[in-house]
Amino acid sequence: FSQRIAIEARKDELGQLAQSFNTLSTSLEEVEMKRREFLANVSHELRTPLSYMKGYAEAVEESVIEPKKGLTIIQNEANRLERLVNDLLDLAQLEGESYPMKLEPIAFAQLINDVVEAFEVISEQRSVTIKRQLDEDCIISGDSDRLEQVVRNLLDNALRYSPPHETIDVTLAVRGASAELTISDNGPGIPKQDVPHVTERFYRVNKARTRKDGGTGLGLAIVAQIVKKHRGELEFVSGEGAGTIVRLVLPLEM
Ligand code: ADP
Repeated sequence: FSQRIAIEARKDELGQLAQSFNTLSTSLEEVEMKRREFLANVSHELRTPLSYMKGYAEAVEESVIEPKKGLTIIQNEANRLERLVNDLLDLAQLEGESYPMKLEPIAFAQLINDVVEAFEVISEQRSVTIKRQLDEDCIISGDSDRLEQVVRNLLDNALRYSPPHETIDVTLAVRGASAELTISDNGPGIPKQDVPHVTERFYRVNKARTRKDGGTGLGLAIVAQIVKKHRGELEFVSGEGAGTIVRLVLPLEM
């Protein structure tokens, strides 16, 4: 990949050809670098829960830890591994060019209401209030299972990062030929320099905290792929200590 043609400076056609070749070569290098980085990340993410499981199994076997305690940790790590593998498979499927996305009319407010209601027990446990202001006439065109997954992921993040006694605002409105969903939380926010990267695979602002919270680091990468397949837009408005607003725009059913 690191081939370069050294006649770029020439102003003639050959010089231009060399320039195009060099640009292409650079972008292929970048793709290759991203691929390697992704593989390294996957290996690391898979190995971590495995090491915990092996370590605790050994500790139980050698009676250095109470069996019940050890088994609970092993179970948690196995669950984590399962989530990770499921997310990886899901992402690989979604990234495939030919992955079919069902397009059917969806009453978006209804879909959002269903997701919010499913979160009610957790939000009550955490003393977080979810306020809704939804335009009931918003009919979009999309894959309802996938869009439910999007809303669930975004709300899950908003809840995960919300301190107790705070409010999450969910609004849905028609804007021209689109539906605009916003989910705003009053959590710690995302530092400005991290905002453009949050939809990258395994990108985490605070590695230690998200691992403890059970996130796989793939949630927003999956969300971004689904939104892309719906020709929608996804935007994060945030800053350190400023809370986070996620704005999702999807085309209305014509
Ligand atoms: P994770 O599984 O780690 O939550 P995501 O892909 O869902 O992975 O999110 C990527 C990162 O973006 C998170 O690790 C977190 O640092 C940041 N993030 C996402 N949503 C929020 C939010 N509402 N408030 C603060 N940080 C967030």
